[in-house]
Amino acid sequence: MEKVIRDYYIGLETGGTNIKCFIASDPYNVVSELNIPTRDPGETTDKVIQFIQSGINKHRISVKSMGIASFGPVDLNIASPTYGSIKSTPKLAWRNFPLLAKFKAAFPFPIAFDTDVNAATLAEARWGAGIGLSDFIYVTIGTGIGGGIISNQQLVHGLIHPEIGHMFVKHDLLLDPFDGVCPYHKDCLEGLAAGPAIEARWGNPPVNLPEDHPAWAMEAHYLAQMAVNLTMVLSPQCIILGGGVSQHAGLIELIQLSFKEKLSEYVQSPLYNKKIDNYIVAPKLGQNAGIFGAIALAQTIQ
Ligand code: ZN
Repeated sequence: MEKVIRDYYIGLETGGTNIKCFIASDPYNVVSELNIPTRDPGETTDKVIQFIQSGINKHRISVKSMGIASFGPVDLNIASPTYGSIKSTPKLAWRNFPLLAKFKAAFPFPIAFDTDVNAATLAEARWGAGIGLSDFIYVTIGTGIGGGIISNQQLVHGLIHPEIGHMFVKHDLLLDPFDGVCPYHKDCLEGLAAGPAIEARWGNPPVNLPEDHPAWAMEAHYLAQMAVNLTMVLSPQCIILGGGVSQHAGLIELIQLSFKEKLSEYVQSPLYNKKIDNYIVAPKLGQNAGIFGAIALAQTIQ
């Protein structure tokens, strides 16, 4: 019988609290996986390197490529001497850590590098709610707000990378006299609508706020503004809303209603009214989007 030769990939997701690593032919065929807490960068990455080496030896596989999906901000400028390093993170030990360079020095296979949110966007494109779409946006709303854009089947990087969370939205101080918590802009979208903003405004974390609390209508008002802005600028076929805050029961429906009202039938598509359920949607991969995205990144290397 002819032996099936498979390509294997390494996916590494470095998160603020945990680091996950998969050795897999695709995300549904994982031969070995590691999940460890994010501690000192030197010690943590040494453990990952050991895990990869012993996995390769144990399973006698050859690795085609690796993808690293990292928490940010990261240096994504290929021409920069610090390409692949972590930048000004509040996690001080990781600041300026040369994450990509460390793995490049340890292994001979090529390594793709991107932000965790861009990787999650790629994963939704390959295996999730973005399948078959040429243009869509994935936004995660949790302790921060971040987003990835697929335009004409390509992930948008631009000069640096998009920062959807820091767009400016209308802020009526009479209705919402809260200053906002973004350390750079105060009342940008993230400063008004990410988890810490909800907690600071209402004195309670989002998980403790019941479904009928006025916090949710206000949250929908800000996120619908974001959806309108993204619709006007990028004309996507779908906007996927992920992250802990968006999972709150009923929130996506409130955003859909507020979006329709704000758009006011200015641009017309059945997706904006009759099929809004197919336009502003939940992700399909949930917690797995990051690690699946790291594999998707590895597979972008031909
Ligand atoms: Zn901001």
